[in-house]
Amino acid sequence: MGGSINVWAAAAVTLCGLGTFAWIVAGKVRLILEGASSGEMRLEWRRAVNAAAQIFGHRRLFQDRRSGWMHLVIFYGFIMLQLGALEILWKGLRGTSMPLADNAVFTMLQETTVALVLLAVVYAAFRRYGEKLPRLPKGWKPLLVLIWIGALMLSVIFTLAFDKLREGASESGATSLQYTPISSVAAEGIEKLAGAPSVVNAISAVNAKFIGPPPPPLLAVKGWVQTGYEISWWLHLLLLLGFLVYVPLSKHFHIFTAPVNWLLRPTGPPKLAKINLENEEAEKFGMNAIEDLTRKQRLDLFACVECGRCTDVCPAAGTDKGLSPMHLMIKLRDTLQRKGMEFKPADTVAGEVSSYDVLRSHAPTAVSPNATSISSTMDWQTKGWMKRDARTLEFPGEVPPHTPALIGEVITEKELWACTTCRHCEERCPVGNLQLAPLMEMRRYLVLTEGKMPSEARRTLQNIDRQSNPWGFPRQDRTAWMEEFTVVEGWNVPTLRDNPNPDWLWWVGSMGAYDSRARRVTFAFAMLLRQAGVSFAVLGAEERNSGDTPRRLGDEFLFQELCRTNIATFQNYGIKKIVTTCPHTYHLFRNEYTDFGFEAEVRHHTELLADLLERKRLTPRHPVSRTLTLHDSCYLARYNGVTEAPRAILSAIPELETREMERSGKQGLCCGAGGGRMWMEEPGRRVNEVRTAQALATGAQMIGSACPYCLTMMEEGLRKLGAEERTGALDVAEVLALSVFGAAGGAVS
Ligand code: SF4
Ligand code: SF4
Repeated sequence: MGGSINVWAAAAVTLCGLGTFAWIVAGKVRLILEGASSGEMRLEWRRAVNAAAQIFGHRRLFQDRRSGWMHLVIFYGFIMLQLGALEILWKGLRGTSMPLADNAVFTMLQETTVALVLLAVVYAAFRRYGEKLPRLPKGWKPLLVLIWIGALMLSVIFTLAFDKLREGASESGATSLQYTPISSVAAEGIEKLAGAPSVVNAISAVNAKFIGPPPPPLLAVKGWVQTGYEISWWLHLLLLLGFLVYVPLSKHFHIFTAPVNWLLRPTGPPKLAKINLENEEAEKFGMNAIEDLTRKQRLDLFACVECGRCTDVCPAAGTDKGLSPMHLMIKLRDTLQRKGMEFKPADTVAGEVSSYDVLRSHAPTAVSPNATSISSTMDWQTKGWMKRDARTLEFPGEVPPHTPALIGEVITEKELWACTTCRHCEERCPVGNLQLAPLMEMRRYLVLTEGKMPSEARRTLQNIDRQSNPWGFPRQDRTAWMEEFTVVEGWNVPTLRDNPNPDWLWWVGSMGAYDSRARRVTFAFAMLLRQAGVSFAVLGAEERNSGDTPRRLGDEFLFQELCRTNIATFQNYGIKKIVTTCPHTYHLFRNEYTDFGFEAEVRHHTELLADLLERKRLTPRHPVSRTLTLHDSCYLARYNGVTEAPRAILSAIPELETREMERSGKQGLCCGAGGGRMWMEEPGRRVNEVRTAQALATGAQMIGSACPYCLTMMEEGLRKLGAEERTGALDVAEVLALSVFGAAGGAVS
């Protein structure tokens, strides 16, 4: 028996919808494949496992629990409802139900899912327009989608309800009230409404006007039940196909791209791509044109769902620097799709209000000092950039020949230099995007191809180049701390000449050797190593800068020079194990020197100390009756997942009470010093002051850290906030030394 719907009409509409969808998707796929292949897009089982956890377990999405639940309901709801949609379409066309439709559990699940998805949609609207979460862009597009999904759900309910009325309410089993509660109630409502005299009269009047002589009232209602069914059925089909076509045109394309993005996302430690500087044919290094984006970077753009999670945690966005990783994704995507019709920063357009004025005018005076606020950055990104009107383009025509430069026309230099490379954006992104790579490639372009950088960055790089330290102190002073140590502690820290076969090479680092505050950490660590009977040695005068600062500032030439020199030194001494007190150096040696042929066991000093404690080679016997909150270093916690080692050390110290900040571990707020920002001016609201205020809010008497940059930033924050009298900042090694040697032990003065 055939159904009540015209099969040919339905087939034609469906083919149209599917064809349009395929055509749009093919265009996007072509855009992605036009990108350079960087070898990063490949399938591996580890990537597949991670992808499964992210897609089906919503691991990242649950970092925001409420959004996680909401998305979970919509995600699984949509999967469930595909079967329901199939049944609705089948029945309309064939007149009979699919076998599954008679199953009571199936019908019950379908109806419950529809109700849950409707609730989730209402909640999503509330989060965006009621709660007004700053990270979520407002406007009509997100609202349109919510209305669309809501309408789709309603069309399911109405189709089922009219179907019920059409067939009479006498069925049992799967179609009874118990198993189809929503459509049954809807059917009852329609029946009551249709039976109301005013409605019957209205239907009869319409019949009389458009169809012919009025039939008896009941007959009229019956006819309209069939019509109602057909209208609902067609509405459902059209909404479904319309949504399918709209998906690849919008951020909802992530339904297809996000799973692929996760499947192809590298799972290893994050690292910067190596540049082949020997390539004599290279016309430039770094990226300044949309064509330079790799396939994976293009896929990232189409996976972005504009959720703002990355911007929400970005220290630059949260302190009014204008940088917003979400907007970077959006603007790059639009640039990729609409070459020549691009954004212009308002401050380059004559007569327009400067975009930085927009930013300044929103200085968050009302924001509490220990909270980040992305409102001014979000506002600036929205108001400060404008899309050129196609009608005013200099090059009218199908595809305007002007391809915008990324730096200046899509992102400003100030935004590029505001990034601390903290990777929090990448850690939060629910679709697995890697926002930092394009930012760093643009920095590299500025430095390597154009020779442009802030003056403080230039000075720092010159100092590293000439003296192998960022301040430009004399190279020979690198060992001054060792002489001082001998005077204070009465024994010599061994160099590789003294101890040519140590278990550990200790990389002291520029901060540890030159900076007077970081030197105290160096002293404490040396004392602890000796106390534990560890065989170690330092390079002394042979130590150079590790190259972290040049690399993060985009100077790959200087980095590679230092990297190769250091590797030659390591290989000369046959070094197999390195310990360092600097998380930046730790990351570099462990994950980035490997691209230049150096493999060694690299440990952070907190990892080695935690290990020594566990093996009872160190005994923290003196109580430290204080409260302490630990600030996690981005390069330790987020880049390398080391969050437990410093906490294990602290928990071993008698009477030390630790308090966690709201943002800690992998979710900790950056101190503001990474990415070379340590050596640059920071105008306006400072990241380290916000972070210090967050630490102070715990009421702890000490701020612990495990990085010389973080320590400097916390101490400076305490000074700026006038809290240095009541709160101190100490490295974890210093706190341990306090407990091992006692306050009078001299390791920490
Ligand atoms: S790496 Fe950090 S500072 Fe840079 S864009 Fe991402 S969150 Fe912002
Ligand atoms: S890049 Fe990721 S976190 Fe940022 S807005 Fe897009 S989907 Fe959200």
